[in-house]
Amino acid sequence: KGERLRLPPWLKTEIPLGKNYNKLKNTLRNLNLHTVCEEARCPNIGECWGGGEKGTATATIMLMGDTCTRGCRFCSVKTSRNPPPLDPDEPFNTANAIAEWNLDYVVLTSVDRDDLPDGGAKHFAATVSHLKERHSKIIVECLTPDFRGDLKAVETVAVSGLDVYAHNVETVRELQRTVRDPRARFDQSLRVLKHAKEVKPSLLSKTSIMLGLGETDSQVYATLKELREAGVDCVTLGQYMQPTKRHLKVDEYITPEKFKYWENVGNELGFLYTASGPLVRSSYKAGEFFLKKILR
Ligand code: SF4
Ligand code: SF4
Repeated sequence: KGERLRLPPWLKTEIPLGKNYNKLKNTLRNLNLHTVCEEARCPNIGECWGGGEKGTATATIMLMGDTCTRGCRFCSVKTSRNPPPLDPDEPFNTANAIAEWNLDYVVLTSVDRDDLPDGGAKHFAATVSHLKERHSKIIVECLTPDFRGDLKAVETVAVSGLDVYAHNVETVRELQRTVRDPRARFDQSLRVLKHAKEVKPSLLSKTSIMLGLGETDSQVYATLKELREAGVDCVTLGQYMQPTKRHLKVDEYITPEKFKYWENVGNELGFLYTASGPLVRSSYKAGEFFLKKILR
């Protein structure tokens, strides 16, 4: 090890663009929204924005600026102890822009803001409630920080009117310290997910794990089992990709067959939904799944 691994063929994909993609992209130019889809150059942008076969257009929007108070070793977001203050108009303006964008499913996410007393929970909640007022049919997922384990903050977001509460454990229990900022902890993240469902049992909870960081199969299995036992409804597994040379190296490129295997394991463990594949990201095709579930 120590050498950089070659990119396997299944990751050298062309980005397919769906029919809705251009329309959404043109609208976006005038709306002043920061999408993770574009900023992270996500390979699923055509499918998500285009809506795939089911016509469920999905996008992920970043709230609370582009500067994080933490520094995870897999993440290329800028870091600072004192990021600029929040824009108090952001919840209202973002909600209006999303409503005009004509999405079916939106993921609201943010950097970690450990500098704010509530970690930005009220800011999230205000965005959700404005958005639902403007566009009641849109399905809203919040992908939140751990709020340093502040359960009051978790509750503020959980009861804001959202449909899906997501928080990522990112990796197996054993690799938390290597991969995530030291302020993040597996048990703290698990409590966040559990608490969201306790205060609002009708919402769906969801988490994500990256593979290829050196985890063993038995660690992945144990992590999935723990998540299910904590009542987590949905899980996604995807390949870790090193964003720059300064970030953690990829230990292994997991084969598509192995991802399929984990999808079966997830289904057997009883998750409502398991998405597992090299290019799967936490919000991948989330909308399609949700529509299937509520139409069932
Ligand atoms: Fe955007 Fe997430 Fe879809 Fe990627 S997977 S295009 S970040 S919604
Ligand atoms: Fe990146 Fe989130 Fe970690 Fe901040 S907390 S460094 S945004 S993964």
